[in-house]
Amino acid sequence: MEPPIPLKEWNFITTLHSGADDIKIIRLDNPVVGQEGIQMVGLRKTHAILNTEDYQLAGKGAELLYWDQNTRFCGVCGGTNKWMTDISKKCTECGKEWWPSAATAIIVRIQHDDCILLVRARNFKGNHYGLVAGFLETGESLEQCVVREVREEVGIKIKNLRYFGSQPWPYPFGLMVGFTADYDEGELSLQKEELCEGGWFKRDKTGSLKSKV
Ligand SMILES: [Zn+2]
Repeated sequence: MEPPIPLKEWNFITTLHSGADDIKIIRLDNPVVGQEGIQMVGLRKTHAILNTEDYQLAGKGAELLYWDQNTRFCGVCGGTNKWMTDISKKCTECGKEWWPSAATAIIVRIQHDDCILLVRARNFKGNHYGLVAGFLETGESLEQCVVREVREEVGIKIKNLRYFGSQPWPYPFGLMVGFTADYDEGELSLQKEELCEGGWFKRDKTGSLKSKV
């Protein structure tokens, strides 16, 4: 079968090996419009279209595209980096090898009696609330990161910190590590530079989350 985009227009980046299938990652300079069998979809929207496995592959592809663009030159000598394997590069001048390294972030659900803490970040589009989250800093453990982010963003102390799970977070290139914790002490005090709203929320009889106060 003919590929839906002419082969000469392929800007091949690398290959993902998934089971029996090889998936080619290509970069398109312009969106493909008006071509049967092609639908251009942003990565976030694919979450509602693809199954979990394919969504994760799409995310990995998007991360490698991002990484490819950000590692065109060697950070040591400025030489040109060339793909060495399907997931790594090597400098053509000094031989330094470059492997993708995702930015690690934490997210935490904090429980206080029958409520959880929800916050609205200034950079959120729309009226969404979420959990306290933030990036791991150099030299700290994941647990230290959670305690620091909670203290910095909402000013409270937590206890009973427990690992929940993790998932790739390809926006643009991360690993999101989830925790749960219980409120310990302190008054909520929002970090105004990052958060515009926040508070304790509980479910009403319909199952919707409602602010406690
Ligand atoms: Zn180099």
